[in-house]
Amino acid sequence: MAHQVESERLVSVFAYPMPYEWSIGLYGSKFFQEIKQNRRFVGIRCNGCGKVYVPPRRVCGPCFQELAELVALSDTGVITAFSVVNYPFIDPNTGARRPIPYTYGYIKLDGADNIFSHIINETDLSKIKVGMKVRAIFKDTAEMQGNIQDIKYFDIVA
Ligand SMILES: [Zn+2]
Repeated sequence: MAHQVESERLVSVFAYPMPYEWSIGLYGSKFFQEIKQNRRFVGIRCNGCGKVYVPPRRVCGPCFQELAELVALSDTGVITAFSVVNYPFIDPNTGARRPIPYTYGYIKLDGADNIFSHIINETDLSKIKVGMKVRAIFKDTAEMQGNIQDIKYFDIVA
């Protein structure tokens, strides 16, 4: 940290490069590999209570069973909640300001029991409602990088 005097203002300058790697784990890796290689979602089923989670996780919260049964899921689901966002912010995934407005939604993928969150490709409040069917739109295969942005958004299909 360095202090600089600009006119009458005292300014503290921070320049901390903080590169890091964060493991997404075995099942997180399988989730993104399945999207990248097969353009589909994979979840995991609990043999105790039967719930299917997406993305897959290691342990079922309600019954504490260790999970191991991966299941293919549809690329479609239903909107359970959404918000049209009208304030700008810096997207931590890209480092760039996300254009506004955009719609962030909670989606229950067909075949899953929990909620998946992502962008919904509609910002007109008269054209979007809870309960509408949506389909994931993936990036072109050559553009995929094995992260959540391999899913461009969800399109309303009904
Ligand atoms: Zn369970």
